[in-house]
Amino acid sequence: MGEKTIFQRIIDHEIPAKIVHEDDRCLAFHDVNPQAPIHVLLIPKQPITSIETLADQDAALMGHLMLTIRNVARQLGLVEGGYRVVTNCGQDAGQSVDHLHFHILGGRPLSWPPG
Ligand code: 5GP
Repeated sequence: MGEKTIFQRIIDHEIPAKIVHEDDRCLAFHDVNPQAPIHVLLIPKQPITSIETLADQDAALMGHLMLTIRNVARQLGLVEGGYRVVTNCGQDAGQSVDHLHFHILGGRPLSWPPG
Protein backbone atom coordinates (compact mmCIF):
# COMPACT_ATOMS: atom_id res chain seq x y z
CA MET A 1 0.00 0.00 0.00
CA GLY A 2 1.25 3.52 -0.82
CA GLU A 3 1.87 6.25 1.70
CA LYS A 4 -1.19 7.70 3.42
CA THR A 5 -2.49 10.96 2.00
CA ILE A 6 -2.72 13.97 4.31
CA PHE A 7 -6.52 13.54 4.30
CA GLN A 8 -6.25 9.89 5.33
CA ARG A 9 -4.10 11.05 8.23
CA ILE A 10 -6.83 13.55 9.19
CA ILE A 11 -9.48 10.78 8.99
CA ASP A 12 -7.28 8.64 11.25
CA HIS A 13 -6.90 11.60 13.67
CA GLU A 14 -3.11 11.45 13.27
CA ILE A 15 -2.98 15.16 12.46
CA PRO A 16 -5.37 17.82 13.74
CA ALA A 17 -8.08 19.56 11.74
CA LYS A 18 -10.87 21.97 12.60
CA ILE A 19 -13.69 19.50 12.08
CA VAL A 20 -17.20 20.85 11.42
CA HIS A 21 -18.94 17.53 10.69
CA GLU A 22 -18.15 13.85 11.10
CA ASP A 23 -20.24 10.74 10.55
CA ASP A 24 -19.56 7.12 9.62
CA ARG A 25 -19.01 7.93 5.93
CA CYS A 26 -17.51 11.40 5.70
CA LEU A 27 -15.64 14.23 7.37
CA ALA A 28 -15.75 18.01 6.85
CA PHE A 29 -13.07 20.38 8.15
CA HIS A 30 -11.73 23.87 7.53
CA ASP A 31 -9.11 24.20 4.78
CA VAL A 32 -5.69 25.07 6.21
CA ASN A 33 -5.18 27.70 3.45
CA PRO A 34 -8.63 29.30 3.04
CA GLN A 35 -9.48 31.00 -0.24
CA ALA A 36 -12.66 32.62 1.12
CA PRO A 37 -13.96 33.62 4.58
CA ILE A 38 -15.49 30.13 4.76
CA HIS A 39 -13.52 27.35 3.06
CA VAL A 40 -14.35 23.84 4.20
CA LEU A 41 -13.36 20.51 2.66
CA LEU A 42 -15.70 17.53 2.69
CA ILE A 43 -14.18 14.09 2.11
CA PRO A 44 -15.42 10.52 2.12
CA LYS A 45 -13.77 8.24 4.67
CA GLN A 46 -13.46 5.62 1.93
CA PRO A 47 -10.13 6.08 0.12
CA ILE A 48 -11.35 7.25 -3.31
CA THR A 49 -8.72 9.15 -5.31
CA SER A 50 -10.98 11.49 -7.28
CA ILE A 51 -14.32 11.69 -9.07
CA GLU A 52 -12.65 9.79 -11.92
CA THR A 53 -12.13 6.66 -9.82
CA LEU A 54 -15.67 6.45 -8.46
CA ALA A 55 -17.35 3.08 -8.96
CA ASP A 56 -21.01 2.64 -9.87
CA GLN A 57 -21.51 1.22 -6.36
CA ASP A 58 -20.47 4.60 -4.90
CA ALA A 59 -23.75 6.23 -6.01
CA ALA A 60 -25.34 6.09 -2.54
CA LEU A 61 -22.16 7.43 -0.92
CA MET A 62 -22.09 10.32 -3.40
CA GLY A 63 -25.69 11.13 -2.60
CA HIS A 64 -24.80 11.20 1.08
CA LEU A 65 -21.84 13.51 0.39
CA MET A 66 -24.03 15.96 -1.56
CA LEU A 67 -26.69 16.05 1.15
CA THR A 68 -24.00 16.52 3.79
CA ILE A 69 -22.58 19.45 1.79
CA ARG A 70 -26.06 20.99 1.91
CA ASN A 71 -26.25 20.45 5.69
CA VAL A 72 -22.74 21.80 6.32
CA ALA A 73 -23.50 24.90 4.23
CA ARG A 74 -26.61 25.48 6.33
CA GLN A 75 -24.63 24.91 9.55
CA LEU A 76 -22.02 27.47 8.47
CA GLY A 77 -24.62 30.10 7.58
CA LEU A 78 -23.87 30.08 3.86
CA VAL A 79 -27.38 29.68 2.51
CA GLU A 80 -28.44 33.32 2.40
CA GLY A 81 -25.34 34.60 0.61
CA GLY A 82 -24.80 31.48 -1.45
CA TYR A 83 -21.73 29.33 -1.86
CA ARG A 84 -19.70 27.31 -4.35
CA VAL A 85 -18.85 23.59 -4.34
CA VAL A 86 -15.75 22.53 -6.28
CA THR A 87 -13.88 19.28 -6.81
CA ASN A 88 -10.57 19.34 -8.65
CA CYS A 89 -9.85 16.19 -10.65
CA GLY A 90 -6.36 15.56 -11.95
CA GLN A 91 -3.46 17.66 -13.11
CA ASP A 92 -5.09 20.40 -15.18
CA ALA A 93 -7.58 21.11 -12.40
CA GLY A 94 -4.71 21.40 -9.91
CA GLN A 95 -5.71 18.48 -7.69
CA SER A 96 -2.98 18.36 -5.03
CA VAL A 97 -4.28 15.67 -2.66
CA ASP A 98 -5.13 12.24 -4.08
CA HIS A 99 -8.22 11.72 -1.94
CA LEU A 100 -11.62 12.87 -3.28
CA HIS A 101 -12.59 16.20 -1.72
CA PHE A 102 -15.20 18.87 -2.23
CA HIS A 103 -14.35 22.49 -1.49
CA ILE A 104 -17.23 24.47 0.03
CA LEU A 105 -16.49 28.17 -0.43
CA GLY A 106 -18.50 31.17 0.66
CA GLY A 107 -18.69 34.34 2.69
CA ARG A 108 -17.80 36.67 -0.18
CA PRO A 109 -18.80 37.13 -3.85
CA LEU A 110 -16.97 34.51 -5.93
CA SER A 111 -15.90 35.42 -9.45
CA TRP A 112 -16.45 33.24 -12.49
CA PRO A 113 -14.87 31.68 -14.51
CA PRO A 114 -12.14 30.27 -12.24
CA GLY A 115 -8.54 30.78 -13.37
P1 5GP B 1 -6.88 20.54 -4.16
O1 5GP B 1 -5.87 21.56 -4.63
O2 5GP B 1 -6.32 19.14 -4.20
O3 5GP B 1 -8.21 20.66 -4.85
O4 5GP B 1 -7.20 20.92 -2.66
C1 5GP B 1 -6.46 20.47 -1.59
C2 5GP B 1 -6.76 21.40 -0.44
O5 5GP B 1 -6.30 20.79 0.75
C3 5GP B 1 -6.07 22.76 -0.54
O6 5GP B 1 -7.05 23.80 -0.54
C4 5GP B 1 -5.18 22.80 0.70
O7 5GP B 1 -5.11 24.08 1.29
C5 5GP B 1 -5.84 21.78 1.60
N1 5GP B 1 -4.92 21.13 2.54
C6 5GP B 1 -3.72 20.57 2.25
N2 5GP B 1 -3.16 20.04 3.35
C7 5GP B 1 -4.04 20.27 4.36
C8 5GP B 1 -4.01 19.95 5.76
O8 5GP B 1 -3.07 19.35 6.28
N3 5GP B 1 -5.08 20.34 6.50
C9 5GP B 1 -6.14 21.01 5.94
N4 5GP B 1 -7.14 21.34 6.77
N5 5GP B 1 -6.20 21.32 4.63
C10 5GP B 1 -5.16 20.96 3.85
